[in-house]
Amino acid sequence: MKPVIALIGRPNVGKSTLFNRLTRSRDALVADLPGLTRDRHYGEGRVGERPFLVIDTGGFEPVAKEGIMHEMAKQTKQAVAEADVVIFLVDGRQGMTPHDKTITDFLRKSGRSVMLVVNKAEGMRYTSVTADFYELGLGDPYVISAAHGDGVNDLVDEALNLALASRPEEQEDIDESAKGIKIAIVGRPNVGKSTLVNTLLGEERVIAFDMPGTTRDSIEIPFERDGQQYTLIDTAGIRRRGKVFEAIEKFSVVKTLKSVSEANVVLLLLDAQQDISEQDAHIAGFILESGRALVVGVNKWDGLQSDRRDEIKMDIERKLNFLTFAKFHFISALKSTGISPLMKSIDAAYDAAMANLSTPKLTRALIEAVEHQQPKRKGSIRPKMRYAHQGGQNPPIIVIHGNALEAIGESYKRYLEKHFRETFSLTGTPLRIEFRSGK
Ligand code: GDP
Ligand code: GDP
Repeated sequence: MKPVIALIGRPNVGKSTLFNRLTRSRDALVADLPGLTRDRHYGEGRVGERPFLVIDTGGFEPVAKEGIMHEMAKQTKQAVAEADVVIFLVDGRQGMTPHDKTITDFLRKSGRSVMLVVNKAEGMRYTSVTADFYELGLGDPYVISAAHGDGVNDLVDEALNLALASRPEEQEDIDESAKGIKIAIVGRPNVGKSTLVNTLLGEERVIAFDMPGTTRDSIEIPFERDGQQYTLIDTAGIRRRGKVFEAIEKFSVVKTLKSVSEANVVLLLLDAQQDISEQDAHIAGFILESGRALVVGVNKWDGLQSDRRDEIKMDIERKLNFLTFAKFHFISALKSTGISPLMKSIDAAYDAAMANLSTPKLTRALIEAVEHQQPKRKGSIRPKMRYAHQGGQNPPIIVIHGNALEAIGESYKRYLEKHFRETFSLTGTPLRIEFRSGK
């Protein structure tokens, strides 16, 4: 499981600057998608070979008693409780404030591993920029400049070491034990996740149940269906949950993020009996952000009037219009209808996400696309695309080489994406196009 790092601190200390630096590589994937409710507070990062999840806790107001700030504080507290390490940012230029002390008190009570980090330290001496903050009693502060990047990689390395050390048991590589297609079933409470899991596991022979190590916050459940092997990533404990706990089970962003990041294909469940909520759109937004393949199940389709069916379809089109690459299935987890086609789409999304696209085939598809429609000139410059190769999988990355490619606009990029998608039948996965210009 990827370690989770939470960024915490009062407004303006540089949390989002640090967040953007840590997650920057992911941005290209979802730039400018119309209609997307982007939640820029959750993302994946990587330092060297080490991946991690990062949460920017936004404007943390530990004292708010009600209203939106109170809600945010609740979310923040939950995120902190579920994170492996907390990076507590303070502002080295402004020095210590009373608010920093309040946050320190809260963090101390949380029992998390905390790293005190003095930001905006570029061009300043360690002793002078940190002097103020020893009073917080959190040990020697780390110093960074989020804006310039100084000290950031070392900080994350330290954070990841700390995360590993604070885990309750030794981490075996659970990826190794997972067989077949790794699926995460996500969605807000009550959409039918546990019902679907039971349907999937009950119908077919379950190969194995809980892996050893029950203290782990995630379990992987292998199962087989129509000769295909799958592994269910159950971070939120959807299978284990009894009816008794249903009422108090709350939605956990961190757990959802973890399952998504471990999966090959995400199955997003929606409830056809309810309108699409902001929470649905948010979950969809960060699945998109993660770059994982996606299939959508619109659940509780049983017993719906045809009026309601039309209504929910329109609602989906209106609110989730950014999920253009995903297949939608109308199912009933309870009555077990529509499940086989859904699983077929999961297989197809996996194949698309893992596709091997050869350089000659990609280049041929590129030339076809250009012959059909040239990119526009920008002033006297005409971009010249020469060849394409595959730069990655899950999601597939197509790297296009040529000259003056920075002059290519968003809409032409989308045209290329559509062309590649159709040529190679890449349904169910995001697709990333990158340009590399020669001199
Ligand atoms: P947040 O409210 O904690 O998310 O803070 P932001 O990331 O929005 O940053 C607040 C302000 O501090 C912005 O004007 C940033 O440009 C600035 N800032 C962030 N990091 C640094 C840094 O390392 N050095 C300096 N000098 N300014 C920074
Ligand atoms: P979870 O919180 O997402 O795991 O949702 P549950 O699986 O606990 O389901 C919540 C409620 O919706 C339960 O009362 C289920 O019986 C009901 N439910 C789940 N799937 C279906 C379905 O396909 N049709 C109908 N009518 N009800 C369903």
